[in-house]
Amino acid sequence: MTLLTFRFAPSPNGALHLGHAYSALLNQKLARTTGGRLLLRIEDIDTARCTPELEAGIFQDLEWLGMEWETPVRRQSEHFADYAALLDRLVGEELVYPAFMSRGEIRAFIADSGKAADWPHDPDGAALYPGADKALPVRERKRRIAEGAPFSWRLDMEAAARAGQRLCWMEFTDETLTSVREVEARPQDWGDVVIARRDVPTSYHLAVVADDAVQGVSHVVRGLDLYHATGVQRLLQELLGLPAPRHFHHRLILGPDGRKLSKSFSDTGLSALREAGATPDDVRRMVGLEL
Ligand code: GLU
Repeated sequence: MTLLTFRFAPSPNGALHLGHAYSALLNQKLARTTGGRLLLRIEDIDTARCTPELEAGIFQDLEWLGMEWETPVRRQSEHFADYAALLDRLVGEELVYPAFMSRGEIRAFIADSGKAADWPHDPDGAALYPGADKALPVRERKRRIAEGAPFSWRLDMEAAARAGQRLCWMEFTDETLTSVREVEARPQDWGDVVIARRDVPTSYHLAVVADDAVQGVSHVVRGLDLYHATGVQRLLQELLGLPAPRHFHHRLILGPDGRKLSKSFSDTGLSALREAGATPDDVRRMVGLEL
């Protein structure tokens, strides 16, 4: 029987807080109770915001918490060539297109469209990309790229929908991972999402599906804040012929004000808690995961 494989995949663009501790410890607990594997993956494709110091802080915090993971740790910034190969496939199949509009141009386009009041928004609240430059002739695209115009590769959601049928993912109903339900993937709610940047041949979504596949991740256990992102990732798996892991999106640890924790909250940061004298057991209690 193949072992269940879990992963904790932080981004070193800030310090870990209680929400990360919960996610990491829950993955560890599930790997232990099922006799499965636990991987740690450093999601550092944003080379401007991710730093070696923040990465070192993540290792320090996780070791302090008593986490144990397999080595070598996969660091996404070392695998840009793998993501570029997948992107090339999507480009070749005309499932992505170069999108040239800046944020300001998107706003202006929507304001001038006469449909601003009804313009659709994605699950994070951002206006969907207008997609007007999907109609640009190939020669014009090439000219702009050759001239160094900034652009991102966006998924042509209409073309992608034609390529795939109705997609679902399997979601566990609670932390015990005993039963699953089928959730309809709704990638279309995101419109033409960014799949790669001009200078970085990937995005969060592409790197996650590539790595989950290459690392044999069978169980993706992460916060509810990424629930809707799963729809896009499920579609990418389908388009690229990658396996679909099972998911559990866990509750989020909220701050004292009832809001989602952010990396800038110093009072719930793990290193701040440690310096204030908290123990790993205190952290477990705080996130409701006592052993
Ligand atoms: N790197 C992402 C984050 O820190 C998590 C990605 C995932 O678990 O799929 O929010």
